[in-house]
Amino acid sequence: MEYNYTAAERFMRYVQIDTQSDPLSNSHPTTEKQKDLSKILAEELKAIGLEDAHMDEWGYVYATIPSNTDKQVPVICFCSHVDTAPDASGTGVKPIMHKNYQGQDILLPDDENIVLRKSDFSYLDKLIGHDLITASGTTLLGSDDKAGVAIIMDAANYLVHHAEVKHGTIKILFTPDEEVGKGTDKVDIKKLEADFAYTLDGGERGSLEDETFSADAVQIIIHGVITHPGYGKGKLINALKIAGEVLAQLPKNKLSPETTEGKEGFVHPIRVDGIAEKCTIDFLIRDFITSGLETKEALLKSVVELVVKNYPGASFDFKVTEQYRNMKEMLDQYPQIVLYAKEAINRSGLEVVMESIRGGTDGSRLSFMGLPCPNLFTGMHAIHSKKEFISVQDMNKAVETIVHLVQIWEEKSSTGSTTSKP
Ligand SMILES: [Zn+2]
Repeated sequence: MEYNYTAAERFMRYVQIDTQSDPLSNSHPTTEKQKDLSKILAEELKAIGLEDAHMDEWGYVYATIPSNTDKQVPVICFCSHVDTAPDASGTGVKPIMHKNYQGQDILLPDDENIVLRKSDFSYLDKLIGHDLITASGTTLLGSDDKAGVAIIMDAANYLVHHAEVKHGTIKILFTPDEEVGKGTDKVDIKKLEADFAYTLDGGERGSLEDETFSADAVQIIIHGVITHPGYGKGKLINALKIAGEVLAQLPKNKLSPETTEGKEGFVHPIRVDGIAEKCTIDFLIRDFITSGLETKEALLKSVVELVVKNYPGASFDFKVTEQYRNMKEMLDQYPQIVLYAKEAINRSGLEVVMESIRGGTDGSRLSFMGLPCPNLFTGMHAIHSKKEFISVQDMNKAVETIVHLVQIWEEKSSTGSTTSKP
C-alpha cells in the first residue's frame, strides 16, 4: 500500500481548530469549541460516503462503514478523542512540517527557547529521513489525539475507495473530554453496536497497549477529640497530628509514584483537609493486579490502626471507592483482539512493542462498559507539551495497520459462523 500525505494533510488542518477541554467545567462537552472539530469530522465522513455520520448533542461523532463481505464478522470500532490537554495552550496552533529530518536540532520559530533535540528525545534517532510535524513554540501540537482522529479518517477514506479490501461492519467513534476523564460519560454503547474496539491514542510506532492500572481511591477520616485548648490537658486529641503521623509512617523508598515504575503499583496521598477535631486524607491506590490493590489497602489500614491505637478516644473511618480496572481483565476473555492487532502491526512491516499504561484510558472504561478496547499507536511524542512532535510516516503506518486489521478480522471469520460476543 502506498500512502502519500493524506493523513498528515488532515492532521495539519485539525490541529488548527482549538478543542481544549476544561477540567473545571461541569457541562458536556466541557467546552463547546470541541464541537467545532466534531462537526467538521461528521461532515467529512458524510462526504466520504458514510451516510449515517453525525454528531450528537454531547459532541460525540458516530459513523458506520458498511460490511462488504458475506461472512459474519464481529463489528469493530475505531475510537479517538477530539479534545486536547489543558496542560499547554491549544489556541492558534501553527503546525510546521519539517521534511526529511536528519537529526539536527529543530528550532520552533515562535519561541527561541523551545528546541527539539535528539539528546532529549531518543526516539528522534528512529525518525531519521522522516517528515516531522511540530507546533511553532507557543502551543501544544495536539497530536494527542488529533493524530488518532486523522488516522481513522484516512483509513475510513481508504476503505470506502478500495472495495477489494474485504471487511465486516466498521464503526467510527470520536469522543470529547478524554483529557479531563469524562470521555465516556455520554457515550451510547448500545447505539454504537460494536463487539470490540481499538483506541488510536498510543505513541511509538508498533506499540500496542493492552494493560492499564487498576485504580481505587481511599479516604481516611480521622476523628480526634476537641476541647477548649486552654483546658485540653489529658483530653484533647488533635486529628491533624494523627494525620501527620500516618503520612510519616508511609514507606519512604517504595510504593510511591516517585519510587516506582514499570509494573509496580503505589499508594499516593493527594489531599489533606481538616481541623484539629477531624481530618480527611485522600489517597490514590494503583496496581496492575486488582488483588494488589487489596494488599495496598490492607497495608494502609494497618498503618492507620497502629497510629490511632496510641490515642485512646480517637477513631477513624476507612472508605475504598473503585475507580477503574485493568482492561487486561476484559481483553484476556477475547484474546483474538490483541492477537489480530499484533498481526496487523507485523503485516505493516513493524515490530510489536507491547506496553502497559501507568494510568487509565477511555479504553479501560470502554472495556468495562462491555466494549473490550486495547490502544494502538499513532506516532505521537512529547505529548501535552510545546515540544510535541509526530512523524508523517509513523502516522501512515497506523493507517496501514487499521487496513490490515479489518482484513484480518474478515479473514479469520468463516461464512455463517460467528465469533462475536455471546
Ligand atoms: Zn490521548
